[in-house]
Amino acid sequence: MSLLVVGSIAYDTVETPFGKVEDSLGGSALYFSAAASLFGPVNVVGVVGSDFDASKISFLKKRGVDLEGLYMESGKTFRWGGRYYEDMNKRETLFTYLNVFERFQPRIPEHYRHSEYVFLANIDPELQLQVLDQIEKPKLVVLDTMNFWISGKRSELEKVLKRCDIIILNDEEAREITSEANLIKATKRILEYGPKSAIVKKGEHGAMLYHNGHFFFAPAFPLEKVVDPTGAGDSFAGGFMGYIAKTDKTDFATLKKAVIYGSTIASFNVEDFSFNRLKTITMEEIEERVKAFKELTSF
Ligand code: AMP
Repeated sequence: MSLLVVGSIAYDTVETPFGKVEDSLGGSALYFSAAASLFGPVNVVGVVGSDFDASKISFLKKRGVDLEGLYMESGKTFRWGGRYYEDMNKRETLFTYLNVFERFQPRIPEHYRHSEYVFLANIDPELQLQVLDQIEKPKLVVLDTMNFWISGKRSELEKVLKRCDIIILNDEEAREITSEANLIKATKRILEYGPKSAIVKKGEHGAMLYHNGHFFFAPAFPLEKVVDPTGAGDSFAGGFMGYIAKTDKTDFATLKKAVIYGSTIASFNVEDFSFNRLKTITMEEIEERVKAFKELTSF
């Protein structure tokens, strides 16, 4: 399998009802890689500043994450700050400092160009297009985005939508793209923009997949304590795509299982700040929770 992710590598400052971390490791590409690398190798493309401490990501290297596409530029690493309140489904962005990301032009290393599975994490759609122009015939392109780009770079985003197979987004974003309040209608209408399938996440209420005229609903794994939801979306995507790349199939049954693996890994990620949980997670723990998932939902 060959799986490529392009996204952010960040220092996050996050406050939740359970505490606060400052300048802790984060970013969509790293959360994705930490999850996907549990299934097989991952190629990463991104940028960090000269202040980045590479020793902090040695755990990813040990798991088979190829970091050749991680460029170090002079300047500061991307920084994001967010706060969560009692209702952890909603977050407030306190700041976004693009720093080295502002001038980032993704260059895909030669040996990444044949990647079969591609995840375009939440970055500027113009950069996502540049990435696709450098990849040769991927089997599956999965796209993530956010309201910032839906309103700010609509036409570029529509171009990426035409070139992706699956879009992953949250309920608010699905409604915003389609101007459709009903979530089922909105999910169906997203396919009019190009993707063959859509996954709409609803925070602690789970995720739904729409594929070939069929819906699949997966609850979020019920947890008594969510410490930090940051990276839930990206670790979901990492588990989802890691599973697909490993099985090398994209039929509905595989996509459904991939949603369950994505939800399971995201449920571990939110149990602690930053990568504290994903650093130590094992495949045995994941399989055990997948089994519990099955028992919870079968009748
Ligand atoms: P998630 O919670 O899965 O949506 O992703 C959270 C991660 O996304 C954090 O670690 C942030 O550093 C990163 N992030 C937040 N805003 C942006 C942005 N505008 N562009 C790229 N990455 C971002």
